[in-house]
Amino acid sequence: MTKTAESFQFKAEIQQLLNILVHSLYTDKEIFLRELISNASDALNRVQFEMLTNRDVLDPDAELAIWLSVDEDAKTITLRDTGIGMTREELIENLGTIAKSGAKEFLAKLKESKEQASNIIGQFGVGFYSVFMVAKEVEVVSRSFRKDAEAVRWVSDGSETYTIETADKTDRGTTITIKLSDDAHEFASLYRLENIIKKHSDFVTYPIYVGEGDDQRAANQQTAIWRQSPSEVDDEKYAEFYKQLTLDFTDPLAHIHLAVDAPVQVKALLYIPPTREGSMFSLRKDPGLKLYSRNVLIEEYTTDLLPNHFRFVHGVVDSEDISLSVSREAMQNTRVISKLKSLLTKRVTRALEDMGKNDPEKYKKFWSEFSPFIKEGIATDPTAISSLAPLLRFPCSTHEPDELISLKDYVENMPEGQEEIYYLIADSVAAAANSPHMDRFKARNIPVLFMVDTMDTFMLTTFREFDGHKLQNVETAQLDEAAEDAATDEAAKEKLPDDQFAEVVARFKSVLDERVEDIREAKHLRNSPVRLVAPDGAEGQEMERIRRMLEKDYEVPKRVLEINRGHPIVQNIAGLLKSDFGKADLLIEQLFDNALLAEGLHPNPAEMLPRIQKLMEMLGK
Ligand code: ADP
Ligand code: MG
Repeated sequence: MTKTAESFQFKAEIQQLLNILVHSLYTDKEIFLRELISNASDALNRVQFEMLTNRDVLDPDAELAIWLSVDEDAKTITLRDTGIGMTREELIENLGTIAKSGAKEFLAKLKESKEQASNIIGQFGVGFYSVFMVAKEVEVVSRSFRKDAEAVRWVSDGSETYTIETADKTDRGTTITIKLSDDAHEFASLYRLENIIKKHSDFVTYPIYVGEGDDQRAANQQTAIWRQSPSEVDDEKYAEFYKQLTLDFTDPLAHIHLAVDAPVQVKALLYIPPTREGSMFSLRKDPGLKLYSRNVLIEEYTTDLLPNHFRFVHGVVDSEDISLSVSREAMQNTRVISKLKSLLTKRVTRALEDMGKNDPEKYKKFWSEFSPFIKEGIATDPTAISSLAPLLRFPCSTHEPDELISLKDYVENMPEGQEEIYYLIADSVAAAANSPHMDRFKARNIPVLFMVDTMDTFMLTTFREFDGHKLQNVETAQLDEAAEDAATDEAAKEKLPDDQFAEVVARFKSVLDERVEDIREAKHLRNSPVRLVAPDGAEGQEMERIRRMLEKDYEVPKRVLEINRGHPIVQNIAGLLKSDFGKADLLIEQLFDNALLAEGLHPNPAEMLPRIQKLMEMLGK
């Protein structure tokens, strides 16, 4: 029996699209397989649904699956499915006109935006036609699930026409045979195709079989664990999937598994990795989440689903509201993406907040790895401040040095009458605890947060208030005056008399000279002999620190030295001024160095050694 093939013209838009695809320079041509598998998976879904309502289906017992084989010599790939199949009319409608695949908008977008086709092909895929990036001829043989339908063969070489003729396929479904074009022979390899399946279609819910006979195996993992209910998935499975996703060898620190229907449909499985750096072999070095729609991978690294400061989060997002074909509803996709972003951001923030409350040990690990990201978020994204602030943790003067507290903890434990949140910037917790600025806070048992991290200073430029309480640097804090004066008088019973103190100040001035902006009496010191403060009206300590980090030649502005006239060392100096200027000057130099050190401003502490030795020698005399 001879069958005559009928020839048809592609619609003009498709000719145009094919022309682009055939000559495409797009480098990730492998996505053609993702598109074909996605179509096969759709067809299987549809026949499955059909069988729920209609028992009169061809081959009702056929396994729902996809088979892939390769002829390495002939350079052909064959993809077969037992899906719903197509009738002659459906083939013409689906593969000959610009039916649903959104190719029209793809072309419109190309025209108006002048963007390179290769830049957007991969983004959303262009459906079935993407096969012409790798094929010099494509044959589709299909038999519909309708028992009375005839099998049909559709053949095209990607030019203006295609042919249709009757075929003799007896079982249900579609078989696509691709004759690879000369520059696409690399795809005539089962190994290569298997890897592409793992990368793009691993979680398609039907088996994708590769190989023949005894060697036949499913190349995909099939279960999309993010689509399962959290009660069905145990920690081990979560960890296994994380490791497969990232090739990390260590378990994740935490996972967030969510299923939401409104305002946007989404199932997502997100992970906080155990470390900031990720494993050396990590697959996912780049930030971004894997975006799926109906089990089809849309984008491998989607960075617009979370704010930049959450870029350490890995995982999978699956939303049926994302349309698969290129810019079919580009506008709608953007709206869906921004809804997804807001939802996912809230969930990640909430999960971290809960971890802080319910599992402080785990949160401590999180904080030691990822605190810079949270602080960066506060410094760079004003809209995120209020949601990120509860995640912050700091050492505090009234707690153990290695303990970290939240701002909420701080506020709840503020002494009666305290309104502001006090903080001290220093290079380390030890330096902070011994800072002369702490004197009056220690004396009155007022807690002070220690900001000892580089990022803190950046953060403090935008972060000035928490829960209605102003953040206040201790250096410039105004405490309740009356209470303070009483405390000062109490602490400094034996103040130097005015005339002696004036002599001390004069000596300090002549020794330190240009190195300080001014010298004056300290009002706020208890246990420290001196301290350095910024001159009135100077730029804040925060800005200064940032400049010191960013500007190579930045010179810290001169400080005002404050002297505690009740301190024994200062009184010693007063005594020495009557007998031994040399010794007095050594002490003055050393006090100044100590003050610089306390502020983290000393350029070279080792320079102090000869003087310290001299002072030690004098002790014995
Ligand atoms: P989309 O999948 O977005 O609809 P495609 O260009 O990928 O666009 O496919 C066009 C249409 O061709 C599909 O909607 C479907 O009706 C039909 N089709 C493609 N592949 C198959 C298949 N394997 N089995 C049944 N129908 C298919
Ligand atoms: Mg498709």
